[in-house]
Amino acid sequence: MIGVDADLYRMKTLANFINGQYVAPLEGRYLDNFNPATGELFARVPDSGPEDVEAAVQAAQAAFPDWAALPPDQRHDILRAVSDGISANLDRLAEAETIDSGKTLHTSRTVDIPRAALNFKFFATALLHFASESHQQPGALGYTLRQPLGVVGGISPWNLPLYLFTWKIAPALAAGNCVVAKPSEVTPYTAYLLGEICQQAGLPAGVLNIVHGLGPRAGEAIVRHPLVKAVSFTGSTRAGAEIARIAAPMFKKLSLELGGKNPNIIFADCDYEKMLNTTVRSSFANQGQICLCGSRIYVERPLYEKFKRDFVERVKALRVGDPFDSASDQGAVVGKAHFDKVMGCIELARQEGGTILCGGEPAPQSAPLDKGWYIRPTVIEGLPLQCRTNQEEIFGPVVTLQPFDTDEEALALANGVGYGLSATVWTNHLQRAHRFAAELQAGIIWINCWLLRDLRTPFGGVKQSGVGREGGWEAMRFFMETKSVTLG
Ligand code: NAD
Repeated sequence: MIGVDADLYRMKTLANFINGQYVAPLEGRYLDNFNPATGELFARVPDSGPEDVEAAVQAAQAAFPDWAALPPDQRHDILRAVSDGISANLDRLAEAETIDSGKTLHTSRTVDIPRAALNFKFFATALLHFASESHQQPGALGYTLRQPLGVVGGISPWNLPLYLFTWKIAPALAAGNCVVAKPSEVTPYTAYLLGEICQQAGLPAGVLNIVHGLGPRAGEAIVRHPLVKAVSFTGSTRAGAEIARIAAPMFKKLSLELGGKNPNIIFADCDYEKMLNTTVRSSFANQGQICLCGSRIYVERPLYEKFKRDFVERVKALRVGDPFDSASDQGAVVGKAHFDKVMGCIELARQEGGTILCGGEPAPQSAPLDKGWYIRPTVIEGLPLQCRTNQEEIFGPVVTLQPFDTDEEALALANGVGYGLSATVWTNHLQRAHRFAAELQAGIIWINCWLLRDLRTPFGGVKQSGVGREGGWEAMRFFMETKSVTLG
């Protein structure tokens, strides 16, 4: 077991993980970190600056030659040991994730932490099978040489903290790079614990460096550093644009996984029970704080009233409460600022003329949870496509409903926003399913399912949802430089 903290609930001071050691931020500045379930302060997080990033980059640069030269089977063994270490610490990491983020312990135990372990396992194996192309022509042989970049940066958000942090780190390390990574300042705890797991797994000092702090300070210092050759970022479209603005003139490789406003299109010919069960999940899993949640639900008119009645009944029955209570379906949203933002979005929907079918208010709890940040799952109807509620990302437990009459109308509604991350279609009409897969403006399409992920498949969005793809070989190739070699 991890021995850093004797008591998960005791107030703690986190540290950066640089060159294989836990170290305090050089300027001694810290940020407050709150437990969203209780609203209580529970950790102090390094407010790192450029000098901490400099130390991390120098450690990564020094570690790079040996790590890149390590035979693949040895690199595999170390990354596999990190995966095993995450699995061995499932209980502790799941509790830490829940205290930090407010998500239910069930979600942390069954989704976040197992997936973090799988990310390392998957890319540990991928590196053993990675191969590159060769092309023959009369009298000449060309081959594609793919080499690690050197030092790369990873910046991740708060909604799936360890899951998305490792989704960047694991392929970067597997490809032979050394990493400087920053988790969200809102949910830094499991990333902090990962340092010790890496130590125990035998990851050489400097190969992975974890720097905590704010986006515009520590995050931007990673993006700006001349030795950081590529940045893999997941977060808001606003921050992604800022990162692109800084990195583009430096010609850095960029992978940007950004916001979404995903449509969920339901046809009357769908498998109704499966669709209903999944739509409750795809709307409100993790309090609606998954970039892939469907936030705009479009229902074919003959099914609309029945769906509305059944859906609202199911949503009203969701229990919002203590994330550690196995009876809770929904925990707290991640923090006060986000609570205020989501409540503001609900107020805006009212002002825009929306009808609140259920929710629309905080979900008060009794002590000791009475200062936590809980919101009732909210369903709204009666709003046009062009209003802000249907155009802007809310990223909370809020969905809108709208009927449609034709395939063309459904496509126009689905595609009529600036985002293009994912889309879900419910139909048993094969040709329609293929047509929608081809014509929907999104990087990820689910037909008659949601959130089924195969780690070999490309993952990413179009339009304001980002550029680049993660997953499988796409991620391995992103973290490598490509050379074309021809032998005459
Ligand atoms: P955010 O953009 O505020 O922060 C994400 C990370 O970027 C944090 O670590 C933050 O410190 C850092 N950051 C912020 N500004 C920065 C800057 N100028 N330079 C460098 N780093 C900076 O996002 P968030 O609120 O943490 O996360 C929610 C957002 O993430 C939502 O928009 C959601 O859709 C998106 N998201 C997208 C995906 C995806 O795969 N497309 C997955 C999860 C979340």
